[in-house]
Amino acid sequence: MAPAPKKYDYIVIGGGSGGSGASRRAAGWYGKKVALISEGISGGCCVNVGCVPKKMTWNMATVKETMEKATRYEYKVPEDLPFDFHKFVDKRHAKIKQLNGIYETNWAKDGIELIHARATFVSDHELEIKPNDGGDAYRITADHICIATGSYPTKPKDIEGSEHGITSDEYFSIAELPKKMAFVGAGYIAVELAGVMQALGVETHLFIRGTTFLRKFDPMVQDILTKHYEEMGVTIHKEHPGFKKVELLHPGSKDNTDPRQKELKLTSKDGSELVVNELLWAIGRGAETRNLGIENTGVKLDKTGHVIVDEYQNTTAEGVYAIGDITGQAELTPVAIAAGRHLSNRLFSGKKEYSTAHLNYENIPTVVFAHPPVGTVGLTEPEAVERYGKDNVKVYETKFSNMFYYVFPKEESAKAPTALKMIVYGEEERIAGIHVLGEGMDEAAQFLGVAVKLGARKSDFDGTVAIHPTSAEELVTMP
Ligand code: NDP
Repeated sequence: MAPAPKKYDYIVIGGGSGGSGASRRAAGWYGKKVALISEGISGGCCVNVGCVPKKMTWNMATVKETMEKATRYEYKVPEDLPFDFHKFVDKRHAKIKQLNGIYETNWAKDGIELIHARATFVSDHELEIKPNDGGDAYRITADHICIATGSYPTKPKDIEGSEHGITSDEYFSIAELPKKMAFVGAGYIAVELAGVMQALGVETHLFIRGTTFLRKFDPMVQDILTKHYEEMGVTIHKEHPGFKKVELLHPGSKDNTDPRQKELKLTSKDGSELVVNELLWAIGRGAETRNLGIENTGVKLDKTGHVIVDEYQNTTAEGVYAIGDITGQAELTPVAIAAGRHLSNRLFSGKKEYSTAHLNYENIPTVVFAHPPVGTVGLTEPEAVERYGKDNVKVYETKFSNMFYYVFPKEESAKAPTALKMIVYGEEERIAGIHVLGEGMDEAAQFLGVAVKLGARKSDFDGTVAIHPTSAEELVTMP
């Protein structure tokens, strides 16, 4: 007879940001017996192939851009600024390895049992565990199970040869810069990674279906940033009809770290062709339900394959919850962490005030680490008009060049946009959304998030003394 499954208070599937936040709160704060199942490298997407390596690479590109601009401050910088990308990548890998260790140490400190394995549901409350080390499969059970398996970058299924391109997952293995690289997509990932590669001197092509990218963002952001990327030298293939096929003319290195020799021929549906060294698909992410055994549970998925949850992260199966990208709600690391912590407070704190704890998904601030960065919180102008009516919405907007560019020739400073937009509604002029773009705006966006969450009005900004001279001060001095 098979042994009875080992019982836990809480099983969390997925060792990424959400899973970590949920299990640490349950075990560390409330002393629950928690099993955290992680098949991949600890820390998940954000730490390994997302936020962290992306921001480190964005920082590297930003340093290069700043050094190039240093000539305007009369520094003598060699025209062909030498840099060693490979060494930087080694340092980045080392940092990430360290972070993987820190995650595991923190889990251990909180008393979480980390199981490196694949978990598959056999029923709502029982999982089969297949250890990564090839050990015998066994079963575990809990009254509360949280799915936090995240998402994965997708490649188009209907384009011949699409498998020859990479996704953001493989991007972070690249240790030698290709001469020419193509990106397909118009969201965060395409804009961030194309911006980095262009800044690092790679001939960058961006294929988008519309006339602007970041189409879910405010029109001000779309227009200014798309134009700015073109001015930076990114070739944007607008209204692209899609690719007919992708041919591998020459492979890159076997381990995929060096695409310099790789040659891909991209043939578009209109017959045009382009040969590049690397192609990256950034056309959205799919919910990671693959091989999870969802079909053995009462958990229902929506049309896009995401797990359906209510505002408390309950799935359609009692005692089974889902947080983070798997739910398709605001696919952002801090959102997954916050949702996981709220859920653990609700399930395990025993406190009355937490009995309805849940994450409010309204007004979540976010930044696109573009060149320059974009910060946004709340509604876009079209969304505000739709919600409150055109006559109830007022827009305050300003565009200027950051003071950093005072010593630049006018035509260059004109190409360095800072743009701020505040959208207010009703007689009180309460803020519906703020959108900022420009150097330093990534940091400013966090505090705009606080203001909007507190229900700030335009008059609250007007009544705040400006910090001079900054770009952000323009937000409190708008006429
Ligand atoms: P997104 O969903 O943000 O954007 C993908 C975009 O690509 C679509 O909006 C669409 O834009 C375009 N697209 C879709 N299908 C195709 C196609 N077949 N051909 C060409 N273009 C297509 O996905 P990402 O992969 O960029 O990012 C995934 C998620 O990761 C984001 O939702 C974001 O939340 C998160 N993320 C957050 C970051 C941050 O916080 N800084 C950084 C990176 C990722 P259109 O309709 O205009 O064609």
